[in-house]
Amino acid sequence: MSKALIMVDVQNDFCPGGSLGTERGHDVARGINELITGEHSYDVIVATQDWHIDPGTHFSDEPNFVDTWPVHCTADTEGARMHPDLDLTKIREYFRKGEYTAAYSGFEGHAASDESTLLAQWLKDNGVTEVVVAGIATDHCVLATAKDALKEGFQVSIIADLCAPVDKTRGENALTELEEVGASIIR
Ligand SMILES: [Zn+2]
Repeated sequence: MSKALIMVDVQNDFCPGGSLGTERGHDVARGINELITGEHSYDVIVATQDWHIDPGTHFSDEPNFVDTWPVHCTADTEGARMHPDLDLTKIREYFRKGEYTAAYSGFEGHAASDESTLLAQWLKDNGVTEVVVAGIATDHCVLATAKDALKEGFQVSIIADLCAPVDKTRGENALTELEEVGASIIR
């Protein structure tokens, strides 16, 4: 039985200065880095990445910031790279999602080193029973990832302070929703 930290989409485009920057993106990246470089209880740390090539209507010239967005996290660009303050040596595996479609949940992602391995399978193969989720954005990819983690049967917690929302109210609502469906919120 082991515990994993799932770091959701802590990528340049989702931080201030990026094409879809959240206000607290830098703080979240730095906070997560402190967590993973200090003493912690995670057996494995994995990261998800939004990784777009041609995701259809996920991209829009007139985005509504709910289900259509400005161009972001294009595969192999600076915007898709992990935040520069993160110690990447701590990350065991990356799970990339959204090449040709919108993909909010990290559980839609496949391992960067082996495209046939999806996140749930990888975690189970590594004996993970409990996951802790942090990252960006609370109201979208964190929400979707944590919900799928519950569906996959993992024990799930979310570190509220280490998540950044696109929209503050929606972010709070997402945490309430997650608590209602069985996740623990660490505040
Ligand atoms: Zn996206």
